[in-house]
Amino acid sequence: MMSGGAKALNAFVAGGDLKDSVFRELVEALPVAIYTTDAEGRLTYFNAAAVKLSGRVPELGTDKWCVTWKIFLPDGTPLPHDQCPMAIALKGAEVPTGIECIAERPDGSRFWFTPCPAVVRNAEGRIIGGINLLMDITDRKHAELEASEQFRAIVETTPECVKIVAPDGTLLFMNSPGLAMVGASAEDAVIGRNVYDIIALEDRKRFRDFNEKICKGEKGSLQFDIVGFKGARRHMETHAAPLRHLDGTTVHLAISHDITERKRGESAAFLLGAIVDSSDDAIISKNLDGVITSWNKSAERLFGYTADEAIGQTVAALLVPDDRQEEEPDILAKLRKGERVDHFETVRRRKDGSLIDISLTISPVKDNQGRIFGASKVARDITQRKKSEKRLIEQARLLDLSSDAILVRDGQDRILDWNRAAEKMYGFTREEALGKISHELLRTGFPEPLPGIREILLRDGHWSGELIHACRAGSRISTLSRWVAERDKNGDVIRILESNNDITERVRVQEELRRANQDLEQFAFSATHDLQEPLRSVKIYSELLATRHGDTVDEEARKFITFVHSGATRMEMLVRDLLAYTQVARFDAPSETADANEALNGSLANLAGAISECMAKISADPLPSLPVHRMHLQQVFQNLIGNAIKYRSPDRQLLVHVGVERQDGHWLFAVSDNGIGIAPEYKEKIFGLFKRLHTSDEYSGTGIGLAICQRIVDRYHGRIWVESEPGHGSIFRFKLPA
Ligand code: ADP
Repeated sequence: MMSGGAKALNAFVAGGDLKDSVFRELVEALPVAIYTTDAEGRLTYFNAAAVKLSGRVPELGTDKWCVTWKIFLPDGTPLPHDQCPMAIALKGAEVPTGIECIAERPDGSRFWFTPCPAVVRNAEGRIIGGINLLMDITDRKHAELEASEQFRAIVETTPECVKIVAPDGTLLFMNSPGLAMVGASAEDAVIGRNVYDIIALEDRKRFRDFNEKICKGEKGSLQFDIVGFKGARRHMETHAAPLRHLDGTTVHLAISHDITERKRGESAAFLLGAIVDSSDDAIISKNLDGVITSWNKSAERLFGYTADEAIGQTVAALLVPDDRQEEEPDILAKLRKGERVDHFETVRRRKDGSLIDISLTISPVKDNQGRIFGASKVARDITQRKKSEKRLIEQARLLDLSSDAILVRDGQDRILDWNRAAEKMYGFTREEALGKISHELLRTGFPEPLPGIREILLRDGHWSGELIHACRAGSRISTLSRWVAERDKNGDVIRILESNNDITERVRVQEELRRANQDLEQFAFSATHDLQEPLRSVKIYSELLATRHGDTVDEEARKFITFVHSGATRMEMLVRDLLAYTQVARFDAPSETADANEALNGSLANLAGAISECMAKISADPLPSLPVHRMHLQQVFQNLIGNAIKYRSPDRQLLVHVGVERQDGHWLFAVSDNGIGIAPEYKEKIFGLFKRLHTSDEYSGTGIGLAICQRIVDRYHGRIWVESEPGHGSIFRFKLPA
């Protein structure tokens, strides 16, 4: 059953004259704009509030409300009139409630309203008209808009990122600084995406928990990393609070700042701090009054004060010894002028009162306006260096004590040190010599080319030899030079210590001696050679005297003739042997090798008579060829085998063996016999000239044979010696070049 009110409304809407209607007064008095239409939407009624709101008096029966007034959606898009809420309602369609629209008056002014359209049907249910109540919400909307505009203005002008995040992580809002911060461009369409996607993986869980906490109504702060749209990683710090959303849910409103630079600065400062602390040098900063403002770990180690003890004190009071107090004002004055102090070597006092040698480098520190406000100071402990310098000075003094000229050269032969003796020997002062190339300064004459000497030095680490040096005055001196190389890790020569002993006098004496020897040899050769002739005469005539007049002279005269003859014979032997001895030196170096077998055979042929006489048994190894004169080798064999025959044992057959073996680039020969042997004390002596162990009566001989052997072997830089067991035999060994 239709209520009375509804009947009245129907009548009202049906377009009847409402003048008398009970509603009339009521409707007119209502502050709500009300209008009615027929089924086509033509106006059939409107109240005073509708006139006031719309700003005009429409034509009843012809005007349509929504055609008369231009209507817009809240975002400003014009609403076609067939889509006006009233037009929709008249088509019988459902009209959503709570729509907010804007209408424009004829004068251009606009108002906000909420329509509440309803349709009126007849008894058959056909739509015969409609009624619409327009709530004027302009004031509320303006207030709202104003608030949201303010919010937008604030949010857009703040440099921080402002965002609203739904409980599930959907980004509901983000201001443009925020979008810039995450590197998003318009195409990225960030709003509506899940904000978790741009949180760095390792922080994602923390951020989700945080978001959930905020959306449950708590406030909080969080630091996390984002990997923005351009892949740039940023550190963010966010302060968030819950916000009640329009739909009644609680969302997460957050203001975040990009703290990447701050973090970087913090970590750079941390790193710098760590570097400063790990430095071996004491690093200190001070202000322009000399008051210490920072103090690293090495400063603690070096000076013994902790940072707490040092900071706030003046450098002058804490570290500078009393006798160096004037240094600090000078340093501070320089710093004020913006000057650096480089490698200033001085002494400072430690906490325990002990003094240390340090090298200071102090630089002024400026603020960002370029004003000097303090200084950084690096102090290096140079105690060790000072000690080694002292050691070097002492060493240099030691060098000065040496009577040898000592020069220290670098790898390029530049003179680094030059002792007193060098000054004296060569006449150049230390100052004149330092830095010069040694062999240029001394015009050195080398015994072999310098590159070869360098090679030996590099290989063995030392070299020695005789050098000729020119002195300042022009004279030339001979030196025995000894070089010792100091090498670096790579084996390169970095320094050479050269010690030169003046042997000019010795060389002169040696040369004189050599010449004297040569003369003597010449004399001995001529004398022995010239003596042969008169000797032969003495011998021949003494023999003639004996044979022709031996019977006519008395016994005593015959004895004298025999003495003369044997003396002459002996002298002949001596002269022959001496001649052989002097001749050893007269041969030049051999140009070809000699076959030792031939040399041995030659000597055996010369000794054939004696060998067969005593029935000696002589054997030999196959012998080599070697670079000596064949004659020399034959002489050695002949003397040794001749001696073996001469000094054989009367009790047994003489056995002689000639052996040879190769040893260290030489041939080692051995001539062994089973003769009488030699007592140990004579082993050296027997090689001397005229040295004999027996009288001529016992064994004939001159004492020259072994001296000749020695001379020959010496000539080839070899060696000869004897091994013997008296009574059992001897082995004569000699070494010759291979
Ligand atoms: P000489 O044989 O003319 O006396 P050497 O110089 O040849 O002179 O020898 C010196 C001395 O060495 C000899 O007098 C001898 O006493 C001793 N001597 C040399 N060879 C032998 C040997 N094979 N056995 C024993 N003694 C020897």
